[in-house]
Amino acid sequence: MFDSLSAAFQNLFRSLRGRGTLTEENIREALREVRTALLEADVPFDVVKGFTDRVRTRALGQEVLHHLTPGQQFIRYVHEEMAALLGGTAEDLVMAGSPGTLLLCGLHGSGKTTTAGKLARWLSARRGRRVLMVAGDLRRPAAADQLAILAEQAGAAVLRPNPGETLADFGPRALVHARSVGCDFVIFDTGGRFQMEADLIAELRDLRQAVKPANVVLVVDSAMGQESVRVAEGFHRALGLTGLILTKLDGDARGGAALSIRSVTGCPVLFTGTGEKLDQLEPFHPDRMASRILGMGDVLSLVEKAQEVVDEQAARDLERKIRRNDFTLEDFLLQFRQMKRMGPLEKVLEMIPGGSTLVGNREAAEDMKRFAKKAEAIILSMTPRERRHPEILNGSRRARIARGSGTTPQDVNEVLRQFKQAKGMAQRLSQMQKRLRIRM
Ligand code: GDP
Ligand code: MG
Repeated sequence: MFDSLSAAFQNLFRSLRGRGTLTEENIREALREVRTALLEADVPFDVVKGFTDRVRTRALGQEVLHHLTPGQQFIRYVHEEMAALLGGTAEDLVMAGSPGTLLLCGLHGSGKTTTAGKLARWLSARRGRRVLMVAGDLRRPAAADQLAILAEQAGAAVLRPNPGETLADFGPRALVHARSVGCDFVIFDTGGRFQMEADLIAELRDLRQAVKPANVVLVVDSAMGQESVRVAEGFHRALGLTGLILTKLDGDARGGAALSIRSVTGCPVLFTGTGEKLDQLEPFHPDRMASRILGMGDVLSLVEKAQEVVDEQAARDLERKIRRNDFTLEDFLLQFRQMKRMGPLEKVLEMIPGGSTLVGNREAAEDMKRFAKKAEAIILSMTPRERRHPEILNGSRRARIARGSGTTPQDVNEVLRQFKQAKGMAQRLSQMQKRLRIRM
């Protein structure tokens, strides 16, 4: 669905990636292309404007990130703002209630019944639920047959209305039935119209009133473009939806609806449908969707590579310093910071020799974290000269540093001891490396 939009972004990003600097003019030009691409994808003007304004603000006031080129930073802003536009964080179904309850509504042909089957399958496979599918489309008897077939495929139970039964009676009966047959989640499929009409809304309100579903979810055909956004707005206003499911994302529509529906309606997208088969339902993750729309799998890995290069560069610098025997406390500090940047401590520990014995040992890991924090404060309290020549650190200097960093002289001694050890180890490592290299 997002093919041409992705292609436009890919083009733009290719031209930006290598840029060493970005001027205001470059940024304006790039944003013009972003705007055109989004408008061509059928995203409403207001949404496009809000989006490009946010990216512009960030791009012009950008903080300097050493590991990214300005072009890469711009791409990152576009990616982050697109993820925000799509809802930011992924939202889940409300699983509470016994049984859990979900009311599906939507226009005729939007994919409600198919989606009911997909959800039943997903809830049983991923959430271990025993699902009852309730045929709440009272007008079309064939609808119950379609639901029964899907229920069988999804391994769910099914319940049909009695002749002449109203939704207000059928709904509560379905909940009682679910409990009696041991089902712990109930999905109500409902009828639709070709347009949003008063009697449809009245019917849905009756059912909602009768069963008080934890989830009221609108199924929207994303191939309908902006019309589907208006439909969603209408349903949301009339019923108070808890979420949306976008179907037919596998089609060739331009994608504007999918991109703007969250921000226009304020209603989170929970799943997307990408085909007619029961397993073609995907939980909606705004950041992953943004990556997909921007064709960014490779861009993100490129950014990661850039990061690696910097780390390599830092490692090479460090190696040179060690060889020249001028590994200082400043480098020691840098190492701590690098460790922090590398993410969860457990991961870092796995990478340092001997560190893996600390993995899973929370206490030791916490100790190490505390030490890193203290060490940073202590080193920051030193003068540059002290950092480069720790041998000048006499008793009174140590006391001053302890006061300045809110630690004790013993802490300062400990950091200096660890530093000496690290320096010694680094030297041994570098000698070992040299020997290995000569042999190769
Ligand atoms: P309902 O009237 O809202 O219950 O819609 P149905 O579930 O009967 O679906 C209408 C048509 O859309 C059927 O032919 C479905 O197979 C098809 N459909 C539903 N979801 C999707 C989807 O995600 N992708 C595609 N390609 N077709 C879908
Ligand atoms: Mg149906």
